[in-house]
Amino acid sequence: MTSENTSVTAAGGILQTALWNAQKTAERLKLSEDVTRRIIEPVEQIRTVIHPQVPNGEMLHARVYVVRHNDVLGPSKGGIRMTDSVNLNEVTGLAMEMTWKTALIGVPFGGGKSGIRYDTSKLKPTEKEILVRAFTRGMRRHIGPEIYVPAPDMGTNEIDMGHMRDCISYSSGTSITAGCFVTGKPVVLGGIVGRREATGQGVVATVAAACKRLNRPIAKLRAAVQGFGNVGAVAAQSMIQQGATVVAVSDITGGVLHEDGLDISMLIEHVKATGGVKGFRGGKAVSFDDVLEADCDLLIPAAGGSAITDENAGRIKADMIAEGANAPLTPAADEILNDRKVFIIPDILCNAGGVFVSYLEYTQETQRDQITRAEVEKRLTERMTTTFEDVHDRSLRMKESMRHAAMDIGVQRVVDGIISRGLLP
Ligand code: NAD
Repeated sequence: MTSENTSVTAAGGILQTALWNAQKTAERLKLSEDVTRRIIEPVEQIRTVIHPQVPNGEMLHARVYVVRHNDVLGPSKGGIRMTDSVNLNEVTGLAMEMTWKTALIGVPFGGGKSGIRYDTSKLKPTEKEILVRAFTRGMRRHIGPEIYVPAPDMGTNEIDMGHMRDCISYSSGTSITAGCFVTGKPVVLGGIVGRREATGQGVVATVAAACKRLNRPIAKLRAAVQGFGNVGAVAAQSMIQQGATVVAVSDITGGVLHEDGLDISMLIEHVKATGGVKGFRGGKAVSFDDVLEADCDLLIPAAGGSAITDENAGRIKADMIAEGANAPLTPAADEILNDRKVFIIPDILCNAGGVFVSYLEYTQETQRDQITRAEVEKRLTERMTTTFEDVHDRSLRMKESMRHAAMDIGVQRVVDGIISRGLLP
């Protein structure tokens, strides 16, 4: 690891959480020091700067990162995060989580992630396109169907993936690419129907599976959702479709709460029109903390990492947490909430629907096939449900938390892959 990385005891946000979880899993699985090192250290970390010129003659300067954490089970898979604070530690931690997530959900991928450090609110659409194309050209040799396959993450979306796909095919002078270089593309460019909704729908599929096992009617749940982007807005919508009530929602602009339930369709329209939750008249304006600590049964953190720490974990009222975001709980918060018997559906299980449907997009493009929405939704629900059940069964059998059970299954599969390949290069 480079000097920008940290040990498990140093402050490191998502990387610290990922390292902690991985090392604890290695101890539970009694892995040797050699194998532990082999599974924890990233295969490749790239850090560089891009300086594309924009139409007004100025240059944009952006730090960019690509981390391929592991490729034992297949090409590294993971989204591109574009925020003003993304850094190598964060990208490395997220790439590591992708390794366990792809293994757990059973798709033939390893873990990867990228970062473009730029404040997207300062970019006009043309400037963002120029930045995304510059990233694609600069990182081209690290991207490919057999190397690393990016997708959207915070700050990027299907339009950006369309530009990446075009940049690659245009550079080779062809209409299409030989295989799938990027997932989460617009459907018209070979993307798959239902990819945008997949993560949020998958979150709710795991909540439904949990309710079935815990004998709680999902329709009676009152939910709060932190983050109202790709994951949070769809998860909120899906909860409503299940008959549940969403009482509180926040995004970067603020929070809104209505004890009798928010009208999520109207809130989505409001966000489309104004750019954020702030100012929504269908509820009262509240703080970020009021949403996290709302009086409800289910909390869906679907924004950034480390939203719940030892500082606020004690004030969370929900007794079920579905981790739509990656690493929304610090290890200390996880311990506090576990002690309080809060039922936590861990990120590598809960938000794996996105990468599962990305896998369907990958196979669709490789085989030049066309998969229907009904097929996507059926396969997504089935895979999320059976994986939830496998994790829950293990957690009951081993008397361990859902997070430990999920990590044990995911990490063991990567170890099995290493052993099956043999330890020689
Ligand atoms: P997004 O950019 O579409 O949405 C992020 C949302 O979080 C926005 O509404 C933003 O305003 C809000 N937000 C940011 N800071 C906040 C804060 N402090 N308080 C409240 N809201 C805040 O991103 P996304 O794709 O929905 O991703 C959300 C999370 O889910 C990330 O952790 C991401 O890694 C994870 N995730 C995403 C996918 C996917 O398919 N998009 C898959 C797996 C995991």
